[in-house]
Amino acid sequence: MSVRVENLTKLYGENKAVDNISFNINSGEVVGFLGPNGAGKSTTMKIITGCIASDSGEVFINGVNIKDDMTSLKKTIGYLPENNPLYLNMYVKEYLEYSAQMYLQKSEVTKAVEAAVEAVGLGEHQFKKIGELSKGYKQRTGIARAMVHNPSILILDEPTTGLDPNQIVEIRNLIKELGKEKTVILSTHIMQEAEAVCNRAIIINKGKIVADNSLSNLESENAGNVISVEFDVEIPLDKIQQISGVKQVKGDGKIFSITTEGDKDIRKDIFDFAVKEGVSVLSMTKNKGTLEKIFRELTTK
Ligand code: ADP
Repeated sequence: MSVRVENLTKLYGENKAVDNISFNINSGEVVGFLGPNGAGKSTTMKIITGCIASDSGEVFINGVNIKDDMTSLKKTIGYLPENNPLYLNMYVKEYLEYSAQMYLQKSEVTKAVEAAVEAVGLGEHQFKKIGELSKGYKQRTGIARAMVHNPSILILDEPTTGLDPNQIVEIRNLIKELGKEKTVILSTHIMQEAEAVCNRAIIINKGKIVADNSLSNLESENAGNVISVEFDVEIPLDKIQQISGVKQVKGDGKIFSITTEGDKDIRKDIFDFAVKEGVSVLSMTKNKGTLEKIFRELTTK
């Protein structure tokens, strides 16, 4: 199922929380919706899920405008809101049954709850009171609730907030697993999360989209033009300077950091140089742009 957002704008008084954003997410994609706090992630998610209305712009789920048919479209979307609101006095199973009944026929509820419990690994915890669960299992319960009606699209707002490192890994693995069958939009301000789970990132800052690309494209487009190289013997710096395409060289002896002219990849020239000089290259790496660096560059302006 696809999600298309066209020229969406949401104002809170004078504040443009979402400022004329557009994007298109295809069926089966796992997309990270990234941005610093206050960027407009939650507001966008609330609009897509029909919880709040936009001031202008449209949202289409599989080509159907949510304004035309939100009631049936809600069945195709599972939403984990920010801070995972749960009824702490209810039992997990009871809560999931209650949630499932909102979307499904009575006869479908038991099976649906069993499937959701199984998918998120709630196991015996399904018989506990929600208020007695650890944070990780509360989060699993929230995700189970979001997917109990087997929606094709999952929208997860900061799903790992407040979890410990082990729980974070578990929830990320769970999302990856779910992403094999569903379209997933996941908001986060943690870059490692996006790298671990998503294949595409939409970066939002101050209500505007500042990047939208696959993670690999984002990283290679923003790759540094610095090559680190280690030779087996010492080489004078001025010799390295003479390699074609070299702009600047740092280091001395065996290890060098070479800045190239523009984005030119001169790794082959360095190998050819080594062969000509009769020396060996022990290691050579072209620095990759990290998502963290890209995020900082795009969201601190
Ligand atoms: P994010 O999810 O990226 O942290 P939000 O979408 O929650 O960002 O918020 C975007 C902007 O809208 C922020 O400036 C925030 O203060 C403002 N905002 C969000 N919800 C409300 C609201 N209910 N009333 C007023 N301002 C709001």
